[in-house]
Amino acid sequence: MDTKELKKQLLYKNKSAFDSIGEDELEKSYAYAESYKLFLDSAKTEREAVKYGIAMAKRRGYREYRMGDEILEGGKYYYNNRGKMLILFRVGSEPLERGARILAAHIDSPRLDLKQNPLYEEGGFGLLKTHYYGGIKKYQWTAVPLSLHGVIVKGDGSTLDVCIGEDEDEPVFYVSDLLPHLAKDQMARTLAEGVKGESLNLLLGSEPYRDEETDGAIKLNLLRILNEKYGICEEDFLSAELCAVPAFRARDIGLDRSMIGGYGHDDRVCAYPAITALLDSEDSEKTVFAVLADKEEIGSEGVSGMQSEAFTDLLAEVCEAKDANFRVVKAHSRCLSADVNAAYDPNYPEVLEKMNAAYANCGVVLSKFTGSRGKSGTSDASAEFTASVRNLFNENGVIWQMAELGKVDQGGGGTVAKYVANRNIDTLDVGVPVISMHAPYEVISKLDLYMTYRAFSVFIA
Ligand code: MN
Ligand code: MN
Repeated sequence: MDTKELKKQLLYKNKSAFDSIGEDELEKSYAYAESYKLFLDSAKTEREAVKYGIAMAKRRGYREYRMGDEILEGGKYYYNNRGKMLILFRVGSEPLERGARILAAHIDSPRLDLKQNPLYEEGGFGLLKTHYYGGIKKYQWTAVPLSLHGVIVKGDGSTLDVCIGEDEDEPVFYVSDLLPHLAKDQMARTLAEGVKGESLNLLLGSEPYRDEETDGAIKLNLLRILNEKYGICEEDFLSAELCAVPAFRARDIGLDRSMIGGYGHDDRVCAYPAITALLDSEDSEKTVFAVLADKEEIGSEGVSGMQSEAFTDLLAEVCEAKDANFRVVKAHSRCLSADVNAAYDPNYPEVLEKMNAAYANCGVVLSKFTGSRGKSGTSDASAEFTASVRNLFNENGVIWQMAELGKVDQGGGGTVAKYVANRNIDTLDVGVPVISMHAPYEVISKLDLYMTYRAFSVFIA
């Protein structure tokens, strides 16, 4: 055998999806990217993603399921957990004890949450105090246009949806940064300390209420505007969930338009393929769940996070309807934890270990484990389950790569994988490589997005 042939047979190397994708599929993947961009622009918070997901599901004949409702074989349902977590599911005909297929992504992203008592006036400005949500580099969130999203639940129990700053003719909001001319002390601080958490205050206005001559006229005027628009008073902030997110729209990146820049690819870039893979799939014998969880960015805690019983309770309900043993079903179910990984960044090659890094355009990334410092805090998928997914993707022409997040001891991360695996369900991390993860504007490749959609589609088929 000549050397070339031997190399081909024995050596492993990442493949660029561009090398194997046909013109037809390339076109399909670029069209898919367009629909994804619409989702990104309309679903900047978990609540908005839930609404968007429900609208998509309803158009495909999915019906609302409430805990305790009847579940029918062949039924297609969505379970809306408090408007912040969404589970789409389809009940197959085969015995559930052979196991369900689960796709688990998250729909929350790093951002600036408003504090509960946020509004104040200082130096001729009205401002809102924030408490950042998730792992951000604080300096990145200054001097960029921000929009305000969320809900205010008023004293009478009614809920107001808020979204200001997404339409071109609406105002946006802003966190200031120091001019370089006066930043001598700031520039000497570390990057982590350069902008402090208590400096992330949002500019809300500057015009005073004119009949008022004392201090507080600007704050009063802002409350007057809010009262006119929403009928709220200051106390209503105390029971609100409002956040500032980047006001940018998703756009193509690069002359060749091969990439997408946008806010919150982590993890909408996996949530969207999970939703569409399920909605586009043919009815099969399998029972399939697409779980879109909240609170991943702060540890998957709480009633709408992956650690809550919401998903397993729903699974138990389906087991009961199908006369299946819950514990047997879990033991035989399989899950792809759909979350992003770091793409190799030519500007910062030093943090990645080249042989085990993910590369843009090399397809969907499998991560056998996440965690940090000696694999701490990861579920570490079994070699057996990893092999079965590898074979499935190879058999179906899904371009994929294997990677871990950065060099050993450089840092690390986690996903919802371990919270599913802890329940005795085989789970592997699978998702899209991202440049500038957790920045206000992140970048992904269109082919990786499409391969993720293909990967999820074959997994649940
Ligand atoms: Mn994520
Ligand atoms: Mn994240």
